Amino acid sequence: MRLSFTHKKIYMKQLFFVLIGFALFGCSSDAQQFAVSKTPEEWKKMLTSEQYHITREQGTEPAFKNAYWDNHEKGTYVCVCCGQPVFSSAHKFESGTGWPSFYQPISAKNVGTTTDKSYSMVRTEVHCSRCGAHLGHLFDDGPNLTGLRYCINSASLKFNKG
Ligand SMILES: [Zn+2]
Repeated sequence: MRLSFTHKKIYMKQLFFVLIGFALFGCSSDAQQFAVSKTPEEWKKMLTSEQYHITREQGTEPAFKNAYWDNHEKGTYVCVCCGQPVFSSAHKFESGTGWPSFYQPISAKNVGTTTDKSYSMVRTEVHCSRCGAHLGHLFDDGPNLTGLRYCINSASLKFNKG
């Protein structure tokens, strides 16, 4: 009786450390923490279903069937989720892809990147550094100035003229 009780205690102790390990591992591998953070329900309340799908579920809108691919007005593109400026019309160029394309963000600190291995491809994912909204992808076939092409979903942006 006594032996099995001790055994059980040791087992519980091991289990405790395993759980702690999981908790720590879970934290360290968890998505980056962002200054603006909301629950999926909160985001759904303030976004259209398309905006939610693209910014919060890493979606992609159709080429040429989006608001800003052919927008030539001067202004600032802000994150549709949190309003942080992410791109400027000054850095927009004609990529021919059917998505708004920029050769650099408005400020390097306003966008972040991660490695995206979905759909059997390795791509660089681009997101808002303030709220983590998925914006699009980054490619290295952009114009000479930077050689970069930020291929961005219109639905993740809001355009402020001027
Ligand atoms: Zn944002």
